[in-house]
Amino acid sequence: MLRLNNVEVVYEKVILVLKGMSLQVPQGKIVALLGANGAGKTTTLKAISGLLKSENGEVTDGVIEFEGERLNGLDAETIVRRGIFQVMEGRHVFEHLTVEENLLAGSYTRRDRRGVRADLDLVYHYFPRLVSLRHRKAGYLSGGEQQMVAIGRALMARPKLVLLDEPSLGLAPLLVQEIFGIVQKLNQEVGTTFLLVEQNARVALRISHYGYVMENGRIVLEGPTERLLENEDVKEFYLGLT
Ligand code: ATP
Repeated sequence: MLRLNNVEVVYEKVILVLKGMSLQVPQGKIVALLGANGAGKTTTLKAISGLLKSENGEVTDGVIEFEGERLNGLDAETIVRRGIFQVMEGRHVFEHLTVEENLLAGSYTRRDRRGVRADLDLVYHYFPRLVSLRHRKAGYLSGGEQQMVAIGRALMARPKLVLLDEPSLGLAPLLVQEIFGIVQKLNQEVGTTFLLVEQNARVALRISHYGYVMENGRIVLEGPTERLLENEDVKEFYLGLT
């Protein structure tokens, strides 16, 4: 479904951050992209979703392909219309809008009002916590609730692929489990495909089918989740087991 082949990204014309990044996300799967701080995970997501331009970054080499078509050079709006939606690190909800207004904002590219209504119900079904908060301003919600709004808003665009950037960041372990459980359910029941960037390898691998480990701008290790969990380097550096 999504394929990156030898992608190179440069910031400010000189800072080479992705140095031949290749990965694939098959339809209907959850793929985890792991790696230490600064490895280039967020940059990879921005390269896919067309958000590099606003940061003075540029894909200078390689191919990014979605459903057989090149995404290189397309603007962010066009990429959303193709069915890719990025949930940014740090959540980025509209603080002054209510939960429901935030969710509806995710459907701005759609014209089918009945479908939008049905999807709103679907989001409330998967995130029951948001039902009683629907008229609350999003800025007053807890971090975990805001993360739910951010994912819910992405779903309202009926995306084929969701790019999730560190959904566990700053959340209590129980909430992390709750959110990852919902992501897994959405994958299994709605069929949404996810590319999941995480520093928390343990929870990410628990729900993913396949994983990539990134270091210094490229992939250094990849495999089906079961195999990665047995890998000594992954155990030592990412799971804290020795
Ligand atoms: P983190 O988990 O900390 O977000 P990451 O793996 O997502 O790490 P990136 O955010 O992609 O890493 O950053 C990779 C490298 O690119 C870092 O060295 C960072 O300093 C650099 N970088 C990121 N954004 C920019 C920018 N707008 N201009 C210049 N350099 C940048």
